[in-house]
Amino acid sequence: MRSEQTPVLIVGAGLAGLTTALFLGQHGVPAIVADRHPGTANQPKARGQSPTIMEAFRTAGVADALLAAAPPGRPEMTIVICDSITGTVLHQYNEHVPHFAALSPSPSGLASQQAAEAAIAARATELGADLRFRTVLDSLRQDDDGVTATLHDLGTDQRYQVRADYLVGADGGRGTIAGEVGIGHHGRGAFGHTTTVLFRAPELIDEVPDTAILMYYVQNPQLPNGSASFVSTDHPGEYVLGINDDRERTEAEVVEVIRIAAGRPELKVEVCNMGTAWEIAHRVADRFSAGRVHLIGDAAHLMPPTGGQGGNTAMLDGMHLAWKLAAVVRGEAGPGLLDSHDAEQRPYGQTIADWQYANMFERLQPDQRPDDLPEVPDPVQGLFGYRMASRAVAGGTDGYGFELPAGRPGTRAPHVVLHRGDEMLSTRDLFFAGFVLLTEDPDWAGAAEQVAAELAVPLAVHRIGAELTDDGTFRSDYGLSDCGAVLVRPDGVIGWRSTTIADRDALDAAWRQILDR
Ligand SMILES: Cc1cc2nc3c(=O)[nH]c(=O)nc-3n(C[C@H](O)[C@H](O)[C@H](O)COP(=O)(O)OP(=O)(O)OC[C@H]3O[C@@H](n4cnc5c(N)ncnc54)[C@H](O)[C@@H]3O)c2cc1C
Repeated sequence: MRSEQTPVLIVGAGLAGLTTALFLGQHGVPAIVADRHPGTANQPKARGQSPTIMEAFRTAGVADALLAAAPPGRPEMTIVICDSITGTVLHQYNEHVPHFAALSPSPSGLASQQAAEAAIAARATELGADLRFRTVLDSLRQDDDGVTATLHDLGTDQRYQVRADYLVGADGGRGTIAGEVGIGHHGRGAFGHTTTVLFRAPELIDEVPDTAILMYYVQNPQLPNGSASFVSTDHPGEYVLGINDDRERTEAEVVEVIRIAAGRPELKVEVCNMGTAWEIAHRVADRFSAGRVHLIGDAAHLMPPTGGQGGNTAMLDGMHLAWKLAAVVRGEAGPGLLDSHDAEQRPYGQTIADWQYANMFERLQPDQRPDDLPEVPDPVQGLFGYRMASRAVAGGTDGYGFELPAGRPGTRAPHVVLHRGDEMLSTRDLFFAGFVLLTEDPDWAGAAEQVAAELAVPLAVHRIGAELTDDGTFRSDYGLSDCGAVLVRPDGVIGWRSTTIADRDALDAAWRQILDR
């Protein structure tokens, strides 16, 4: 059997796997990505990219494509609860798509998952990723030195082996990799299935609001399991109906369900494609890593769609994992750095899954709310306030938590407006390509350059008040004085902070801890 080598094999070319490949490419490590489908998503699926991932996409050269892929209509979200699309509205609310200008320089992206996957895939390929569609992972085996995967090329019906230093399990909610490496799951269970149908019905254009994000929850006893969801797409007159079961239907039966949901028995409907059923469930992996295999995205944390964080959390997982894999593969970090994937991403994935689970009751079934709903952070803290705790954070806290960013190790490095000549930028624009040291103190800048050279790790040193100026908030927002420095990891997280005068040895010790050296 033919055999190939790669530093990283990613199984799954959804949002999680593609984002990992993109940032691995950004950090100079090419990956092979295998997916059984013929290409990226063929339905809109999840919509929206949070500012926290859009910031990273800015540096990686994807954000403009995602902003350009925003759907037509007013930049608003309309959610309607009704008995049919053209029938009685039981409840409706309109919300502006939030822009957290104090916390991030990036607006939210509004691209569909279909457009996002295509854009990320294109950029990942430019950066060196080798995307192999119609390719299935048949089996995997790991030993102390690597992972051997057998891939099946469905196009040629040939099987071949790939030997990888690391394997990323981005194989989604129905993935098998977790089970193959002995990782179990826990959670609140499964709540049903939704089968999504993409269809055209131009007659509905005048019946529904002209907003960028449109979502109807239709409650009607004639529908399968009494309800359905209806969302707009990037093309006026084209919609997705979520039928709440996993029954196989003929096209005529599907059209019948669409007409009930629309409240129009004679509606002209053209079915574009019938998707496969997906499970609505709350299920989190007991561990996110086993040896050289690391889980991300739905494979690690499947959550109900209420709140739109499944896709965002999948992309964030990929971005946070990629720099660690790259640092180890490039010999800049010891393998222990990868232990932080489980320590950092699992509490976050669990919290976000809990949040979406709680939302499911708050939004859709308030009368069935269980007594033991998990406690969840408020949405702003959930998005921006995660404080991670692991060996890859030096001088951090013992446990994780949620707090608004104020420069503490383990939290996201705060967004501060900076100026470079006439150009206005954010501290966040300086991150995501490698380690960054921010300081006002020239002695710290010199010490950091020396330590970086000794460790042979690329570092960008930025002196605030010299090449970059601020509006007087940098010090207080980062918890510094006229001396001190912060070391920001390549994922925009504060890895270490000093509030003293330049101390080369302290930086050396902290950075070595982060890098497991
Ligand atoms: C129709 C639909 C609508 C959704 N709507 C929303 C929403 O509105 N809001 C929200 O937050 N979330 C939504 N979700 C969930 C959201 O899309 C997911 O959270 C997100 O896509 C997870 O990305 P992922 O990369 O982890 O997994 P996936 O996108 O599932 O990707 C996994 C990939 O792995 C591949 N794969 C699996 N096993 C193998 C194998 N053995 N060999 C090769 N390839 C393999 C699959 O082909 C698949 O492409 C929706 C999901 C679906 C399906």
